Amino acid sequence: MSNNTESSRSALANTLERRFFYIPSFKIYGAVAGLYDYGSPGCKLKKNVLSLWHQHFVHEENMWEIDCPCLTPEVVLKASGHVDKFTDLMVKDVKKGTCYRADHLLKDFCNKKLEDQDRRISPEMAMELKQVLSKLDGLSAEELGACIKKYGIRAPETDNYLSDPYPFNLMFQTSIGPSGSSTGFFRPETAQGIFVNFMDIYYDNGCKLPFAVAQVGQAFRNEISPRQGLLRVREFTLAEIEHFVDPEDKSHVKFPTVDKLQLPMFPRDEQKPGQSARLISLGEAVHSKIVENETLGYFIGRVYLFLTRLGIDKNRIRFRQHLAKEMAHYAADCWDAEIETSYGWIECVGIADRSAYDLKAHSGKSRLEAHEQLSEPREVEKLVISPVKKEIGPAFEKKQKNVLEALEAMDEEEISKMKAELDSKGEVDFFVCTLGEHVSIKSSMVTISKVKTREHQRKFTPSVIEPSFGIGRIIYCLFEHSFYTRPDKTGDEQLNVFRFNPLVAPFKCTVFPLVRNQQFEEVAKDISKSLTSAGISHKMDTTGTSIGKRYARTDELGVPFAITVDSTSSVTIRERDSKDQIRVSVKKAVSVVKELSEGLRTWEDVWWSPSQRWKRFWRSCFRFILSRN
Ligand code: AMP
Repeated sequence: MSNNTESSRSALANTLERRFFYIPSFKIYGAVAGLYDYGSPGCKLKKNVLSLWHQHFVHEENMWEIDCPCLTPEVVLKASGHVDKFTDLMVKDVKKGTCYRADHLLKDFCNKKLEDQDRRISPEMAMELKQVLSKLDGLSAEELGACIKKYGIRAPETDNYLSDPYPFNLMFQTSIGPSGSSTGFFRPETAQGIFVNFMDIYYDNGCKLPFAVAQVGQAFRNEISPRQGLLRVREFTLAEIEHFVDPEDKSHVKFPTVDKLQLPMFPRDEQKPGQSARLISLGEAVHSKIVENETLGYFIGRVYLFLTRLGIDKNRIRFRQHLAKEMAHYAADCWDAEIETSYGWIECVGIADRSAYDLKAHSGKSRLEAHEQLSEPREVEKLVISPVKKEIGPAFEKKQKNVLEALEAMDEEEISKMKAELDSKGEVDFFVCTLGEHVSIKSSMVTISKVKTREHQRKFTPSVIEPSFGIGRIIYCLFEHSFYTRPDKTGDEQLNVFRFNPLVAPFKCTVFPLVRNQQFEEVAKDISKSLTSAGISHKMDTTGTSIGKRYARTDELGVPFAITVDSTSSVTIRERDSKDQIRVSVKKAVSVVKELSEGLRTWEDVWWSPSQRWKRFWRSCFRFILSRN
């Protein structure tokens, strides 16, 4: 990292903490890594980001909403696969026991070597390290372990040897109820709450597809090494959308509204050292199957429009496709919206076509499927499973009901797989979701045969396309992309400014009387009252400090407009970044700020409006006459 980046990052961090955007939680007790408190400007900014998110996605697409508990029983997360597989690879300092994320150590090692100013590594080695970095997310435990050994990576603090990498489950475990016998977890994502409620929402939607369900809430992950402020934390706000579609038709009626967008895309085949994202239109990406389907493409486009609308720099966004090894085996395609920061490219939104995996995972308990009425009944031959109760009863005793339900809930694909295994091995390991365990099914316990039936309905498990937004990460990127410094009047000091877009700025305006004077203060109070009634968040500054200092204070909070009361009939409105001012009547001030802060008018519109142009013209004539006298 260059000195410049480091100093601007530390100016940013200092401003964020000093103005209480966010600070480490439980600071007076020494803080806990990976937990943060948002202060007043931080809360307001977060609320505005979420409100824009709601408007841009939930409202625009007429999505369903749901609000489920954070505390989740084990059986749900066992079925979803989180209990067994929601892991990161960890290594331990063999003497001290300190834990590290294996891929982070390897990444830091490669970056440090590549940034080495003295260039003590050969070009071949540099190429090799770049290759490792480009494949990092897809490395297995064995591959990571081999790299750690090969490069002689040791524990950063002690230089001790490290253990082999092993999986560490990231979920926080607890027990539900006083007996301690019922295991629960704090949810690592909000999505499972949506999947388990699928049938209710499907019925409520008139049994029609596609439809989408949104949920915003806290997620918890016991990160091995929380770092980089809000970028890797242990509790964070997730905003997730599950868009359910017919797997045979993943088109999207609104795709034509985004297909012309030219986005920086980084397909998996192009992720090689020295390569970077290139502009591809979404229409072409879907047409040429770089992006698997229209719905996925539609959400990629909508995510881009959302991020740029928030104020993320459009030149520092890219969409990176997951490498084949990085992608879950069931996923049809997966793209991350990555944003460039001083820490490098950061995944802020995951956009995945998860196929039918999630609904199928919970179908052991209750059939989660959709149906389509056929215009004409059709004759079909289906593989059907019939449990042999007299075998299953004695074999599973108290568990027989669960086993029978799970067998009866299997779909044709699963039955076919079971048949193949029974035919070859005579028994099969079968997961019973409601028991949260595997049982052994023997050939004698089921009969599987083909049966001819007349079908009036096509039954199927919908696919799901999931955009998942890490709100804290997006907010941090917004801080970095909005922050700049400019010299004060004397040129001796650098002043901090956040160029927040008025829609997300925590406060839309500040009101100051120019000097301490009762009449001006009364006008300022009346304006403040009207701003409150109009629902505009603002600040009053009646301190007697110089106007320059007061502007600097509000610029540092990213307040886009300042109303200065310097008469009882009219006021000035100053825009933060241009520092330009307009003059409006006291009566009009609130409506102008309201239109500006709600995005109904831009500063340019107001600045170039005929009334302001005339005012500027007369002011300059007046100044000219004064100068002649
Ligand atoms: P995932 O389910 O892992 O794809 O995560 C979904 C989104 O959550 C990511 O795109 C990130 O924006 C965010 N996220 C994941 N882990 C963390 C974390 N430890 N801290 C902050 N945000 C996170």
